[in-house]
Amino acid sequence: MKRIYLDYAATTPVAPEVLAAMLPYFHETPGNPSAIYAEGQQARQAVETARNSVARLINARSDEIFFLSGGTEADNMALSGLVLAEGCKGRHIITTSIEHHAVLENCHFLEKQGAKVTILPVDGDGILDPKAVENAVQADTAVVSVIMANNEIGTIQNISAISRITKQAGIYLHTDAVQAIGRVPVDVQALGVDLLSISSHKLYGPKGIGALYIRKGIRISPILWGGGQERGRRSGTENVPGIVGLGKAAKLAQSSMVAEAERLTILRDRLIAGVLTRIPGSRLNGHPTQRLPNNANFSFDYVEGESVCLNLDLAGIAASPGSACSSTSTTPSHVLLALGLPQHQAFGSLRLSLGRWTTEADIDRVLEVLPGIISRLRAMSPMLNKG
Ligand SMILES: *Cc1c(COP(=O)(O)O)cnc(C)c1O
Repeated sequence: MKRIYLDYAATTPVAPEVLAAMLPYFHETPGNPSAIYAEGQQARQAVETARNSVARLINARSDEIFFLSGGTEADNMALSGLVLAEGCKGRHIITTSIEHHAVLENCHFLEKQGAKVTILPVDGDGILDPKAVENAVQADTAVVSVIMANNEIGTIQNISAISRITKQAGIYLHTDAVQAIGRVPVDVQALGVDLLSISSHKLYGPKGIGALYIRKGIRISPILWGGGQERGRRSGTENVPGIVGLGKAAKLAQSSMVAEAERLTILRDRLIAGVLTRIPGSRLNGHPTQRLPNNANFSFDYVEGESVCLNLDLAGIAASPGSACSSTSTTPSHVLLALGLPQHQAFGSLRLSLGRWTTEADIDRVLEVLPGIISRLRAMSPMLNKG
């Protein structure tokens, strides 16, 4: 049976073009980019070419791009780096209730070090009201961090409205753009953001590599100390094949993103309409239109998302219950709870995320098997009061 992969929000397969670009940097060109001989200089050149490609994708300068190990490190470097540069004591951070754990857990850590954190709520579609940011700003606010496109529900925030407020207040705006990059156009100038996190494995690059955009002139402390690579900001020998892969993925995204977003939007909407009409007691989570072209997140009354996923898996379909990070925990997703969903709906959530190899036949296969899975699970559900 052909497997159908519908978890592109958790990770994407490495594109064949990306893999081909990376391969020479494992063996044929082994140099350390810091070395002065030819092999080193070749590696250095490959790193700088990749930096240019990433910069171009988000309309940044290449000296504003810093490579590191992924989205988690980018989020940590942005927040810890900014706050540590000024000293934690009394520094204030504003963020939202639907951030990735890489932001929320870092905020908790900084809070223990003496920083203050305000977590703003979102509305039922997952939208943050920019006015709430304005009202939360204090004299010692260092940074506002808002996820551009949510990894669970796909809701896209109005980042430029938020940046008008942070600019006026003279504070920095960080955005975790990991899910947005490569899926929708992202322009750091138009958005007015100061720091932006990128992860390669969400845009058909390899895992374990990412980048942080840091607007020129921002003082930020390293969070790793050592040989001073990445102009002193991120020590450790560069992951040359990974960086080359991210660069190639950025280049591919630049040329294919707009057409691919159109194609995926049609498939996504076919999926959403099909599920909502065929399955009673189902709802779409996240904003109906202001959402990623590849994301559909549903709640089904009285079934557990995890059971739905296990049954889909048996039918050859890979999908995620709410969020990949919550698959090992027994508490419902913090994102769905933040939308105001009651527990029984927050538990019964399913995220289907589409990508480059998703076809119309894949969507139709889901629509064929999912209604039966839901009704079978409901028939067995202890949550359903059959009284
Ligand atoms: C995947 C993801 C991350 C973490 O990125 P890694 O490269 O896996 O560390 C951070 N934020 C969001 C929104 C993500 O989807």
